[in-house]
Amino acid sequence: MPDYRSAGRFAPSPTGPLHFGSLISAVASYLDIKQRQGRWLVRIEDIDPPREVPGASATILHQLDAHGLLWDDSVLYQSEHLGRYLAAADQLQQQDLTYFCQCSRQRIGSLGGIYDGHCRDLQLASDNRAMRLKLGKRNSEHLAFTDSIMGHYEQSLAAAIGDFVLRRRDGLVSYQLAVVVDDYYQNITHVLRGSDLLDSTPRQLYIQQCLDYPQPVYMHVPVALNNNGQKLSKQNRAATLRKGHEANNLYAALVWLQQEPPAEIANLSVAEIIQWGIEHWSLAKIPRTMGLDAPDNQLNSD
Ligand code: GLU
Ligand code: ZN
Repeated sequence: MPDYRSAGRFAPSPTGPLHFGSLISAVASYLDIKQRQGRWLVRIEDIDPPREVPGASATILHQLDAHGLLWDDSVLYQSEHLGRYLAAADQLQQQDLTYFCQCSRQRIGSLGGIYDGHCRDLQLASDNRAMRLKLGKRNSEHLAFTDSIMGHYEQSLAAAIGDFVLRRRDGLVSYQLAVVVDDYYQNITHVLRGSDLLDSTPRQLYIQQCLDYPQPVYMHVPVALNNNGQKLSKQNRAATLRKGHEANNLYAALVWLQQEPPAEIANLSVAEIIQWGIEHWSLAKIPRTMGLDAPDNQLNSD
């Protein structure tokens, strides 16, 4: 019997077509949740219009489909659910967990990435100001979790991040808030994504605690690097996936994930390669360290 209580997701931002790095995350989350006989959902994270490329969502969905990564249920577009992110922000505000920040970009830039709480007690009104979540009301000191691939990870939010933004001054909802709200609304039990998001996870755990949401299982796969040791991303123009080479792309993703696919499966159909991948999926085989973006002192290889 399929276990419909389990659900995983792939949540691309429509900033360009899938590249090899994002295909790896999609394939891994698909194989993992299908081995658990759960549902695989696709969510388009389109709430940051300045970064979006017209047509990218449709391209991504075509690419997923061509690679045999077939989603259950309809695709969720975050832009159609702004109301629920704002409601969650309100809920935090009502608990006195938020405040508005008038700091200039220059001031914030000069802080080196850790906000110092300057506006915390100024009681500023919302007008064109960023809304920040106050740390300290809940446990924000040792936010720890066990990643099923990376092992123990912990972060002191105060030392590493400071009170962080839930809504930007231009009114846009932050990725951190929207992702937590939707993982909750979609009943996501297993979050598998690239390790570039490992250090976002403690912020997401903190928001979950403030909103009384359950915590999903987290799995971060090391992000793919190009020959210069840079993360493959749309920003550094990672090669897009070639059309008509889907079976090869899948095979390469399985090799990259060290699932040890036998050479002969490279000639099978997309559906057959996916089936092989589900049956042989092994989290334990995934490399932990390749291209890891986290400082060493935050990781233990328990
Ligand atoms: N939309 C995010 C991205 O494309 C991923 C969100 C997530 O998987 O949590 O980087
Ligand atoms: Zn401020």
